[in-house]
Amino acid sequence: MAATLFTNARIVDGTLDQRPDPVSVLVEGNIIRDVAKTIAAPKATTIDLGGRTLMPGLIDAHVHVIACLADLGRNAMLPDSLVTSRSLVLMRQMLMRGFTTVRDVGGADFGLKITAEEGHFPTPRLVISGKALSQTGGHCDFRGRYIDTPTPKTGFRLGSLGRVADGIDEVRRAAREEIKGGADFIKIMANGGCASPTDPIHFLGYSRGELDAVVEEARMAGTYVSAHLYTDEAIRRCVEAGVHSLEHCNLIKPETAAFAAAQGAYAIPTLVTFDKLASEGGKLGFPAESVAKVEVVRAAGMESLAIMRAAGLPMAYGTDLLGEMHRHQSEEFVIRGLVLPAHEVIASATHVAAKLLRLEGKIGTIAPGAYADLIVVDGDPLQDLSLLTFQGRHLKLIMKNGAFVKRATLT
Ligand SMILES: [Zn+2]
Repeated sequence: MAATLFTNARIVDGTLDQRPDPVSVLVEGNIIRDVAKTIAAPKATTIDLGGRTLMPGLIDAHVHVIACLADLGRNAMLPDSLVTSRSLVLMRQMLMRGFTTVRDVGGADFGLKITAEEGHFPTPRLVISGKALSQTGGHCDFRGRYIDTPTPKTGFRLGSLGRVADGIDEVRRAAREEIKGGADFIKIMANGGCASPTDPIHFLGYSRGELDAVVEEARMAGTYVSAHLYTDEAIRRCVEAGVHSLEHCNLIKPETAAFAAAQGAYAIPTLVTFDKLASEGGKLGFPAESVAKVEVVRAAGMESLAIMRAAGLPMAYGTDLLGEMHRHQSEEFVIRGLVLPAHEVIASATHVAAKLLRLEGKIGTIAPGAYADLIVVDGDPLQDLSLLTFQGRHLKLIMKNGAFVKRATLT
């Protein structure tokens, strides 16, 4: 078994606000075997990091790897072959930014997950929801106001983020079909959205009965529900129904944040996407009506970080970027760093996200038994989070599952 010994590594994993003294880390195969001050491993290839920062591979808990266009209605009409090849490009770029695991919250299917596991293409690990569930006129109904052709019930295009399911029976069936098809959790659209044409932000998605049904289905399968949410009212009713993963949360208020924290829920802010939709969405094909909706949620986003932190609601890293805007994936670190301490921002993309993804101890940590997902950063991200931006320019080494995907000389 191939073994690599990293020496002189200063670990930054989001648990401390300063870099600790250098240690050694031994990787055997695809697993971290040992972390200690000194490790004797005569057969291992030794790489002296010279005091550089060693981080666990980053985790983005809110992506859509099939979103190769900003216009999601058009994206859903592209041929599967084209979406497949473009999503492989998007995933390679994510990996080269240091994201060794991503959670896809709408679109990616089990085929892409297996493709990532087989390792023939450079991609992050994938945790998937399959198609997101939306009600008629909700955040995944892209038909527009004047089109009344029925939405498909099976055979979804890979480029489609979600599927329309209405009523308790249909929602149950859809959830069961996604789980049967390999979904790791269930995603629902429970609030109006920017990208969709007929649902203003304040719309509440799904009746209480439908929410209860989908939460029950997820629990029966041993998993959880993630919901697309902006308004305080939408968040509260979803937490009441037992939704665990609260996406976006831009308009959350302190009381609801405290309630969500008490229920053991997670928030996944995605502030960078609202920034970029506002500044470049229009140019990149995001419809004009949608750009106008972005303003409703964008400004409140920064305030939501302070509210959720004060409430003790754990926040995982998320980006939710579409099409060409994917290149801004790492800028969420810098945006959050304007409000939150750097080590907490890093934690959102390491151990906090790992817990949300139910891969605690396996990813987001440098500890014996974890997957060897590692990045080496030139400099100290605790002092400067922007070292994680610039498309991985400051990442000297990237290792995923024990294999190097980037290996620059360390001089
Ligand atoms: Zn999303």
